[in-house]
Amino acid sequence: MKKKLLAIALSIPFTLSLAAMPPGDRPDDRHASDSFVVGGEEWASQQDFIQAGRRCQTFHPDEETAAALEAEFLHELSIRPHSDFESLFTSPTYVNVYFHVINKGTGISNGDISQTMIDAQMDVLNAAYASTGVRFQLISVDRTTNSTWYTMSPGSTAEAQAKAALRKGTADDLNIYSANPGGGLLGWATFPSSYKSAPSKDGVVLLFSSLPGGSASPYNEGDTGTHEVGHWMGLYHTFQGGCKTGTNGGDYVADTNAERSAAYGCPTGRNTCTGTRYPGNDPIENFMDYTDDYCMTLFTPGQVARMRAQWDAYRAGK
Ligand SMILES: [Zn+2]
Repeated sequence: MKKKLLAIALSIPFTLSLAAMPPGDRPDDRHASDSFVVGGEEWASQQDFIQAGRRCQTFHPDEETAAALEAEFLHELSIRPHSDFESLFTSPTYVNVYFHVINKGTGISNGDISQTMIDAQMDVLNAAYASTGVRFQLISVDRTTNSTWYTMSPGSTAEAQAKAALRKGTADDLNIYSANPGGGLLGWATFPSSYKSAPSKDGVVLLFSSLPGGSASPYNEGDTGTHEVGHWMGLYHTFQGGCKTGTNGGDYVADTNAERSAAYGCPTGRNTCTGTRYPGNDPIENFMDYTDDYCMTLFTPGQVARMRAQWDAYRAGK
C-alpha cells in the first residue's frame, strides 16, 4: 500500500487495502476479457474505457499547438519578475480551494458527496503535492442541485453556465466541481495558459465517485483529482507527443521517461519506447499517466519545476 492512503485513513471510517478488496476488485484479478464498470457505465474492457477517452478529457494539443503554447509560455516567463523560478516556493504557497458539489438531489447516489469525502480529497492532494511547495486549503464548499449541470460535459453550455454561476476567486484560486459527466468520464481541467482568455472556465471537474471512498474503483482513491490538478498546474500527460522526450517536445519535461501511449491498470515493466534513445521503462507510476489510482505515486522533479514556472507565468498574483 502506498503512503498516501495513510492520510486518507485518518479521515474516512475505513481503510482500503488490496488484501481487503473482494475478488474481482483487485487489479491483479482483472483480465483483459473482464467487463469494466466506472460511473455506472459498463465497458467491454478497461482498454475500451481508456481508448474511448473517458479517463480524462483535458484538452490534448497536437504537436504544433503544443509548440506554440510552449513558445508563449517561455515568453510569459521571461517577462515576469521572477525569472529564476527555482527561488520560488521556498516557503509554502497556499492555494485557496473552492469546492462546488453539483448534484441531482440528496444522498451519495445523487452525487451529493459528504464533507468527509471532500476532506479526504484535500488530504490526497496535499500528500501528492507535498514536494511542490503548494498547500491546498479548503475555503468553502457549496452544494447546487441542478440535473442539467450534474451531467455537464467538457465544452457544453451546461459547463459554461455552472462555472459562470459558481466559480470564485482569480487565477491563483482552485475551483473544483464534482458532478456526473456521464459515460464514466472521470474528469477534465483547464491549463494555466487558458485563464487569460476564459477565466470563468478555469478549474477542475471530477466525477463525484472518483473521490476517496467513492464507488469508481479502481479510480476511487482521489488521484483523478491529483491528475486533473496536475493539468491545472500546467502539466501534460506523460505520453503527450508519444516517444518524444526532453523539454523540446513530448510533455516538455526532461525527466519523465518516453511513453508511446497511455498506460492503464498497473503494467509493471511496460516499455513502449525502446532503444538507446529511450532509456528506462514507461512512467506508469506518474500521476500524469492513466494508470489505476493505487499505481500512481509521484511527480518528477522536472514536473515540479514546470508547475512552479507555469504558476509564475500564468497564476501568481494574476
Ligand atoms: Zn489528463
